[in-house]
Amino acid sequence: MQAVFDGHNDVLLRLWSNAKNGADPVHEFVNGTGEGHIDGPRAKRGGLAGGLSAIYIPSDHLVLKTPDANGHYNTPLSEPLQRQPSLDIALEFTAIALRLDRAGAWKLCRSVTDIRTAMAQGVFAAVLHMEGCEAIGADLAALETFHAAGLRSLGPVWSRHNVFGHGVPFAFPMGPDTGPGLTDAGFDLVRECNRLGILVDLAHITEKGFWDVAKTTDQPLIASHSNAHSLTTVARNLTDRQLDAIRDSKGLVGLNYATTMLRPDGQENARTPLSDMVRHIDYMVERMGIDCVALGSDFDGATIPEEIGDAAGNQSLIVALRAAGYGDTDLTKLCRENWLRVLAQAWHEAA
Ligand SMILES: [Zn+2]
Repeated sequence: MQAVFDGHNDVLLRLWSNAKNGADPVHEFVNGTGEGHIDGPRAKRGGLAGGLSAIYIPSDHLVLKTPDANGHYNTPLSEPLQRQPSLDIALEFTAIALRLDRAGAWKLCRSVTDIRTAMAQGVFAAVLHMEGCEAIGADLAALETFHAAGLRSLGPVWSRHNVFGHGVPFAFPMGPDTGPGLTDAGFDLVRECNRLGILVDLAHITEKGFWDVAKTTDQPLIASHSNAHSLTTVARNLTDRQLDAIRDSKGLVGLNYATTMLRPDGQENARTPLSDMVRHIDYMVERMGIDCVALGSDFDGATIPEEIGDAAGNQSLIVALRAAGYGDTDLTKLCRENWLRVLAQAWHEAA
């Protein structure tokens, strides 16, 4: 079994939603409910040793557009969110992450040393990520506070606009150049992340925003849960030019398990073969090298291939990659070491 450190999950969203209805997040994570994709027992069965867990402010009325007769769809961007309710929700997500840590249900990791220690102890190594920074004002004052609470990674935008920049819609077929780049506050945010040691994630941002981050940041370029646009032409996937820039910065792309981002037809369909996942890995490894590709499942955030099903089935992908010719050295990089290398760099930590 290859221990996996994964670039993106939405388990906090599920725990937060259920907590609204009275459920106990610690109990749910420790004992598992069979619902969604990740809890402690299923993560352990599938060798999912840890990953970036997102604070995500839900867009209430987002409904993916049904594909037309040609299989095309273009879901309009969600409306921008107000800061104040977003901040309340982000604090609630953070509180759940801290409660899980206090209870020993998972370890909220603030360094790569923390991650390696938790993995050695068999405790889920969680890293707090913010997917869209609606909870942070343009003055960035809240960023220092979230960093102190454990935030170590953020994407300036989700697939909507905010004071920092612009996101891409869920659309097929479409390229990622769908709108403007970073705002002035967005540039400030990137520089402040560099100063504090917070990873800047390029998933969900427009292509112009991608290049704005690239020319500003002192970190490797990271797309935590994205795939190759050449194979699946959804707006969320990365063009070859973007992949080349990520390679040149010695960054990485985490493979997103969302079927919409894996299948050549861009459709949401759990009956998606593992070979579609291997094809994206092969393509990105060919383009960027084995050091720049990793995993970013989107567990609890997307429809994923049924052969994986949930975190317990995570090793099915590793088995498929092994069958496709990846040896232990390659798999170790894909499964965790590439992530740990770029995190150490973004966090100003000796690897
Ligand atoms: Zn996402």
